[in-house]
Amino acid sequence: MGTTSSLFLFFEPPMLQKVNSKLTTLEQQRFGKDSPPIRVAIVGCGYSGVELAATISERLEDRGIIQAINVETTICPNAPPGNREAALRVLQSRKTQLFLGYFVSCIKEVSASEDSVGMTRIGEEMSIDAKIHQKKFILELQPAQRGLESQILEADVVLWTVGSKPVIPHLDPFDQSNTFPLNGRGQAETDETLRVRGHPRIFAIGDLAALRDSSGNLLPATAQVAFQQADFAGWNLWAAINDRPLLPFRFQKLGEMMTLGRNDAAISPSFIEGLTLDGPLGHAARKIAYLLRLPTDEHQIKVGISWLTKSVVDSVASLQSTMTKRSLDESEAFCCSSHCAKQIDESGHRIIFLL
Ligand SMILES: Cc1cc2nc3c(=O)[nH]c(=O)nc-3n(C[C@H](O)[C@H](O)[C@H](O)COP(=O)(O)OP(=O)(O)OC[C@H]3O[C@@H](n4cnc5c(N)ncnc54)[C@H](O)[C@@H]3O)c2cc1C
Repeated sequence: MGTTSSLFLFFEPPMLQKVNSKLTTLEQQRFGKDSPPIRVAIVGCGYSGVELAATISERLEDRGIIQAINVETTICPNAPPGNREAALRVLQSRKTQLFLGYFVSCIKEVSASEDSVGMTRIGEEMSIDAKIHQKKFILELQPAQRGLESQILEADVVLWTVGSKPVIPHLDPFDQSNTFPLNGRGQAETDETLRVRGHPRIFAIGDLAALRDSSGNLLPATAQVAFQQADFAGWNLWAAINDRPLLPFRFQKLGEMMTLGRNDAAISPSFIEGLTLDGPLGHAARKIAYLLRLPTDEHQIKVGISWLTKSVVDSVASLQSTMTKRSLDESEAFCCSSHCAKQIDESGHRIIFLL
């Protein structure tokens, strides 16, 4: 996919920079009051989709329309209820349009002049040419629930956050004994010591490993799980080499956090049942928890300094913009009281006449 693409498969950090630069371009192109809104479609309302919807709607404010689509009838179906409710409140307050109970069956790429249409069926490879800045997307939504009707949405940018597949190497395609036991999601099945089943000398952790908890539920593909597994895998590798007993991995759920904008987050720690911190308090708690969980002192210092610098820069920028706005308002008020007349035209736009 080229760098000018507007359809983003949202799995890697560099994608954030591409989305940011695409939004910046659109913001520059649609600066005036009469410009059409920037339409962003976000497919999938898991954590990634919801965090994106909250962050982008905060950024674009009235200049954008955020449409978030989910096949389930709720957002973040596996999240703690407190996090889900906090996220719903934020999305509603930022006027994000939620299309729940729909799946996206087709995305059409339409040129601005509408003389060429490229169609991408879901599941096929998506191809986008370099003239993308003049293009928009048409999304076809099919109901996944009874009582809903199909919908057609338009978007300048599509963020696809649905599904991810681990990359597992093929050891030797001709030797069946070397194939890994994979589950439906393409993850390698492991025993509780994190050894791949049938491969006593191979360990798997993180997103590519499939391990169930004592209730039989598959552990989620999160950094929290990967991080905890790393210690066990390290120990068990040493134990396997030295003929010592291997330790069974037990996941300790610490809670869940989500970002909902610059100063907004939700955090539900698992050690206090039913507690959710949200808003600025959730934001501060999330930052502290995140910092404490970074693996080394060096990481903590680097990230801490970077956050501090960013918050100082943001505060100065916000102060400057408030002062600029105030001085513009004041000069306009002065101008009008002495030499100008103001009128409201028919379309509701304010006009200033210099006399
Ligand atoms: C958008 C997004 C947001 C997320 N937010 C959260 C969150 O808030 N909290 C949370 O807990 N989890 C979150 N996750 C999930 C979390 O990122 C993963 O669960 C975690 O990174 C898994 O760690 P891992 O080591 O298994 O895989 P990865 O972090 O993907 O690391 C695998 C590494 O291996 C490298 N690699 C791949 N193939 C090869 C190869 N053949 N040779 C050498 N290197 C290779 C890759 O480049 C990569 O660096 C998020 C994921 C996404 C996509």
